[in-house]
Amino acid sequence: MDICHKCGNPKIIIKRKQSGQMLCQECFIKSIQEKVLKDIRKQKLIEKGDKVLIALSGGKDSVMVLDILNSLRKRRIIDMVAVTIDEGIGGYREEGVMIAAENAKKLGIDHRIISFKDTIGRTLDEIMADSGDRNACTYCGVFRRWILNRVAREEGATKIATGHNLDDETQSILMNYLEGNIHNLTRIGVCSDSSYEGFTPKIKPLREIPEKETALYTLARGLPVHLAGCPYAGDSFRAKIGTFLKEISQDHPTIMYSTLRGFDKIKPAIKKEFSKKSSMGICRVCGEPSASTICKACSFRNSWNVD
Ligand code: SF4
Ligand code: ZN
Repeated sequence: MDICHKCGNPKIIIKRKQSGQMLCQECFIKSIQEKVLKDIRKQKLIEKGDKVLIALSGGKDSVMVLDILNSLRKRRIIDMVAVTIDEGIGGYREEGVMIAAENAKKLGIDHRIISFKDTIGRTLDEIMADSGDRNACTYCGVFRRWILNRVAREEGATKIATGHNLDDETQSILMNYLEGNIHNLTRIGVCSDSSYEGFTPKIKPLREIPEKETALYTLARGLPVHLAGCPYAGDSFRAKIGTFLKEISQDHPTIMYSTLRGFDKIKPAIKKEFSKKSSMGICRVCGEPSASTICKACSFRNSWNVD
């Protein structure tokens, strides 16, 4: 008979394919919280006194980060602020913003909503209406990073926590291997390089939690989450790699962990060889840190003639 391996409860909600472990709801929630907090300690992602900005989309991963890190806030180890970026994706983002606000309010966490329209002058839908052949995620990622970094400074945040899970991270590793983007590989990791002035370090507390388990966690905790998928995500290269990894994980349940572990082992060597650290400067348009004289966000904006 299937019983929880921790407490013997016959009502199990997960059988982990990678380890064979079976857990009931209560023990599953506890095991996830302990694992995330242990990873935070082990990797030194957060220190006492940090002010952590949660990039809160309203999706399961960021809501889970908010929920788990709130335990550190309640113990007065950290301060927290949540920020939701409204990219302006009609019919999709509105609900996510509402759910994000609901979660933050429930926990009494300060919450800011910042739109592409107000900060860069256009919604993502408007950008895509005359974007030519560029992928929506390219614009979205560049502007989101630009906004988050600015807001983190305004808020005096010392860390930015994102909801990247194991699936997201292994997708990034594989995508960059396959595309030969070795320089991008040097930037993948549990914590971004904090040595660049003007950049608030980004941390990924869920980097070792499979996506399936982040979904189950929010369900088990009864947290409201935005489940809809972004309409621009469908045909992206990331989505194809994600499907491939999920399929291969069926027969090789530990494959994402081994991809991550292998990458973490060779990363120092790649970084030593390919890092372009010395070329970091300041964008002469917006003053944000940038590898070239004009940052990516400003060069996109310049091409539309938006001030
Ligand atoms: Fe932005 Fe792409 Fe994510 Fe949609 S899928 S929110 S366009 S990065
Ligand atoms: Zn700039």
